[in-house]
Amino acid sequence: MAYIFEPETTKSVSITGEIAQYPIRRIFCVGRNYVAHAVEMGGEVDREAPWYFTKAPHAATEAGGMIPYAPGTQNLHYEMELVVALGAPIFQGDFTQAAQAVYGYGCGLDMTRRDLQQVGKDNRRPWDLGKDIEDGAILAPFTPATVFGDIKDQRIQLIQNGVIQQDATLADMVWSVPEVISHLSHYYHLGPGDIIMTGTPAGVGPVQPGDTLQGHIDGLAPLAITIGSVE
Ligand code: MN
Repeated sequence: MAYIFEPETTKSVSITGEIAQYPIRRIFCVGRNYVAHAVEMGGEVDREAPWYFTKAPHAATEAGGMIPYAPGTQNLHYEMELVVALGAPIFQGDFTQAAQAVYGYGCGLDMTRRDLQQVGKDNRRPWDLGKDIEDGAILAPFTPATVFGDIKDQRIQLIQNGVIQQDATLADMVWSVPEVISHLSHYYHLGPGDIIMTGTPAGVGPVQPGDTLQGHIDGLAPLAITIGSVE
């Protein structure tokens, strides 16, 4: 295949215990999946069905170093989340098929231009500028589901400059991982390379250049970054 320019290399994430990387195809994100976070955002959880936004695969970046502050915002926020990585195709699947489609899990940050997200909300416009941020889907190494085991009440935490800002358990999620995958699979032919950021607990807040962020979920590789300047 000849291209008029060299295609960009596929973004990928490390896997604990593996040399091979997990290549990213699509990034889906669940909105308002923890009751306390929905409240702090001035909303409420939609009990009818989960809902989503997306980030371009280009937004994916591996944690572990300096992440530039996003351009065009005065209010860049962290959102610590469980990331689900799919490893098998699923289309219009039930909960059992959804659980079987999971490859593994990871810690992730759904970085958000909160000011521009609010402009979108206020004007009933899409959230792209608020959410689809270059280097704004920050991913720690994935852990295979066979190693992690079942999602129960594992603790999920975000620590900013040594201070715990988000502290919840995965049992606090409104929509379970199989529910989300099954529901989403009625709109997309999901498959390997698709990852889902499953929503953030309460306690989101702004970052500044120089901040250190650490994300923890029991049983998963931790996430650590430092916020840099706008580049
Ligand atoms: Mn989020």
